[in-house]
Amino acid sequence: MNEENSSVQNYHHVLEEMRNHSKKHGVEMPTLVCVSKTYDTDAIQPVIDAGARVFGENRVQEAQGKWPELKVATPELELHLIGPLQSNKTKEAVALFDCIQTVDREKIAKSIAKEMKAQEKSLKLFVQVNTGSEPQKAGILPDNALKFVEYCQSDLGLKIEGLMCIPPFDENPGPHFALLRKLSREAGVEKLSMGMSADYLTATEFTATHVRVGSGIFGARDYAKA
Ligand SMILES: *Cc1c(COP(=O)(O)O)cnc(C)c1O
Repeated sequence: MNEENSSVQNYHHVLEEMRNHSKKHGVEMPTLVCVSKTYDTDAIQPVIDAGARVFGENRVQEAQGKWPELKVATPELELHLIGPLQSNKTKEAVALFDCIQTVDREKIAKSIAKEMKAQEKSLKLFVQVNTGSEPQKAGILPDNALKFVEYCQSDLGLKIEGLMCIPPFDENPGPHFALLRKLSREAGVEKLSMGMSADYLTATEFTATHVRVGSGIFGARDYAKA
């Protein structure tokens, strides 16, 4: 079987599992964000043709090379930035993406607010929380998350839709998903982006509204090609 067909099968399989799992646990079915980083338009198009409409990329420059073309063909596509944003890339990010899931510091929040105004665009925004307080990882620390959401909303007039996290690689993700859910309730925001290929069903149980699945759909990534 060729790679394209298997990504389409994987896509349907992931959806089916999410559907069954959310039914079993009596929770809403999350939105599946198909993470297409390192994959080119030829690999992505079959998944769009299979019905996928929400995609995630983690680098602005890489996304610029494929999504303008894909969006012309399918205008209702929704593109999420799920990787760290540098402020010198905010202009391009606001122009291309529909949602930024990685708002995590004042400087970047300010720069997004400024660009959205300049471009008269309103993106969906999530605050990324570093639930494991890992020194090398992006995201606001849990203790500062509520204040930061408040700052974005009150001082900058940004509407924050929800929170996003990437749990530590080697830990049970459940407690991290629970912490993110607790923080979202305290902050009064609705959406929860959590869960990747290895744990999207666990995240579904913890009432994720968005799961981000890459390799589980497209196959193992070859970073040399990115
Ligand atoms: C790459 C990536 C994913 C998808 O990871 P998989 O394990 O391949 O599903 C999800 N979220 C973020 C932030 C990513 O960078």
